[in-house]
Amino acid sequence: MTKVRHDRPTWAGRVPRHKIAELYKKEALGICEEVLIDDVGIGLLVRIEHIFRARKANSGLASCPLCQREIPHDFDPAFQLRCESCNWELTWTEYQKSFQGKHLIASGMTAFLKEYVKKYKVARSPQEKLILIDTLIHRYHWELEGGLTGPGARDLIAGKPNEVIDFLNQLSYGTSSSPEILATRQEWLDKVRKSRAQYADAVKERELKDEKKRQKAEEKNRRRTLKAKARQAGRAGRSNAGEVRDGT
Ligand SMILES: [Zn+2]
Repeated sequence: MTKVRHDRPTWAGRVPRHKIAELYKKEALGICEEVLIDDVGIGLLVRIEHIFRARKANSGLASCPLCQREIPHDFDPAFQLRCESCNWELTWTEYQKSFQGKHLIASGMTAFLKEYVKKYKVARSPQEKLILIDTLIHRYHWELEGGLTGPGARDLIAGKPNEVIDFLNQLSYGTSSSPEILATRQEWLDKVRKSRAQYADAVKERELKDEKKRQKAEEKNRRRTLKAKARQAGRAGRSNAGEVRDGT
């Protein structure tokens, strides 16, 4: 009998920033580099496929890393995922660890990811593909719901949210850039502004709430002290009165 395998699944990483930067530099100069466009475009496709696979695993359907056959599990950390045909097995907890912290859940991006996959697969010209890439990486999480909680690109391009925003802000544009790409650029800048304003408002609101809470606590404290003082004064008054009576 062959030895049982315990391979951990591997997951496609985010697309390196330097490739995206190169793409925009060329586009700004009016140079169409099809190989580079495909490299980034297909990198995003694979990344999205893995996002959907990790999500499925997280909702009860993991897949064998060797043949991709789907294996149901019950979320018990000790549950043994098993693929008979590959003679492979791994506990659910080990499987889950393989994708934790890899930004593979991408909540609030589903519609955009699906749209990209659908359109990219039938896109013919490099220009069409470039516009699809450009549209996707400039999305915001929960954008459709008006949330603008964070740049969707943080799950697609390596970097922390603010680094990704700065990076996208600094991409090259020129007179040769296509009108669609320049329009997306403008929309992006508006979203960043709006998102930052929303964030600032949320911070202000929180600060105001904290301040009110602090004032309330202070007021309560002040009253308590006053009451205690009044009680003390009352006691002192009574005992003084007693002394006076005793003296007569
Ligand atoms: Zn298998």
